[in-house]
Amino acid sequence: MAVTVVHHPLAQHYLTVLRDRETHSPGFRQAARRLAYLLVAEATADLPTVEADIETPLEGAISNRLAQPVVVVAVFRAGLGLLDAAVDLLPDARIGYAGVQRNEETAEPMEYYTKFPAMGDSRVLILEPMLATGGSLSWAVDKVKAKGAVDITAVCVVAAPVGVEAMEKHHPDVRIVTAAIDRELDHNFYIRPGIGDMGDRLFGTL
Ligand code: URA
Repeated sequence: MAVTVVHHPLAQHYLTVLRDRETHSPGFRQAARRLAYLLVAEATADLPTVEADIETPLEGAISNRLAQPVVVVAVFRAGLGLLDAAVDLLPDARIGYAGVQRNEETAEPMEYYTKFPAMGDSRVLILEPMLATGGSLSWAVDKVKAKGAVDITAVCVVAAPVGVEAMEKHHPDVRIVTAAIDRELDHNFYIRPGIGDMGDRLFGTL
């Protein structure tokens, strides 16, 4: 399975802003959005392009346009924090929503809402910022595969080793792009050192 850690200095800088407990919701949202640009750029770095014959203001030129449609799937809630940047970079992308809640005792995913566009031959980017046990991401991948997706990349902010292992076991064909693989998952299923509860920090529900 392909796992890419984005070491770009800007990505690491915005990850640090997210990790810092002194960063409150406005700064947290801004840093999440800025980091998302870098992660989505990496997650689309191998998209195919096709040559386009265009006229610049000065002369004709052969240039390149995207040749593969993209679907972006935001996993609630935290995935919403990456969605604006993804759609800004990919304005033609169709968007899906995957509502899943973690059972706080078992960490098992509990579905409460899904709405997906047709996936066909699209690159599907699943925005799942916290790859903890891998349960929610694995669930989301099952869902998009059931809709026909075959070209899937997960966009994460932080991953736990156990989550990466779970994905390797259940969905080895799914690429993972993340800003960090952290040390461990604690007994409350939080990633350590991590960034805390991303949904709460994004939306001020602490
Ligand atoms: N979800 C979060 O928001 N944070 C974690 O550390 C793990 C799951």
